[in-house]
Amino acid sequence: MLSPKEITRYSRNILLSEVGKKGQEKLTSSIVTVVGAGGLGSPVLYYLAAAGVGEIRIIDSDFVDLTNLQRQILFNENSIGKSKSLEAKKVLESLNPNLNIISFHERLTDKNYKQILCGSDLVIEGSDNFETKFLVNDACFLLNIPLLIGGIFQFEGQILGIKSSGHCYRCIFEKIPEGSIPNCSEAGVIGSVAGIIGSLLATESIKFLLSKDDSIFRNLLSIDSLNLNFRKIPIKKNPHCILCGKNPKISEVKLETQALCEV
Ligand SMILES: [Zn+2]
Repeated sequence: MLSPKEITRYSRNILLSEVGKKGQEKLTSSIVTVVGAGGLGSPVLYYLAAAGVGEIRIIDSDFVDLTNLQRQILFNENSIGKSKSLEAKKVLESLNPNLNIISFHERLTDKNYKQILCGSDLVIEGSDNFETKFLVNDACFLLNIPLLIGGIFQFEGQILGIKSSGHCYRCIFEKIPEGSIPNCSEAGVIGSVAGIIGSLLATESIKFLLSKDDSIFRNLLSIDSLNLNFRKIPIKKNPHCILCGKNPKISEVKLETQALCEV
């Protein structure tokens, strides 16, 4: 049940026929885990907390530095040198003290993924490295937790939705790319592109939690802001995928093959 203050706070959500009081109660009872409290994590976390998602888990092992402030809007100059996950928790709690915000100042690994991810209704992956993206993909697939993966590069961005019943990240990118692939710290990125992709990730999350349109789980959304192009590319399960294909080569995934959350 929503309190009178919550009904006022979320009134612009509740006014929408697609949300209403029931939808707001759904959001308020939802658990979302965000991997990465950086350029994508900042707008995602802000909007999910503002929308009233009841439990938000934040995982990030980094500390804030000056170059982050160009796009990581959760932080300011006072945050420099401090833990991103703990600073993010503080900001979100001051925005919306009704929520349960849990921060993990650590990197997601094959040892801690169950403890952090289990119980989530949805996971959002917004880290800046392929190792974490593949690990989160594999973990969510094996634990049967829906996942949204976001990525940004210079003026471009992508979002892919993944459910265990459909395709996974490895259907498109089989393995972690070999050699050095430049990330934002090497190749640059426009800060507001992190805002576009992060805001879309938050919007898709809210729609998913409300059981609305799920086309993001059937398409890759690709954005080229330099040429103002938005494209939805249909994605199908790859029958040869090493994780979700007909003959999975699960040993290459390096997680327990029978990964289950304890009920
Ligand atoms: Zn796959």
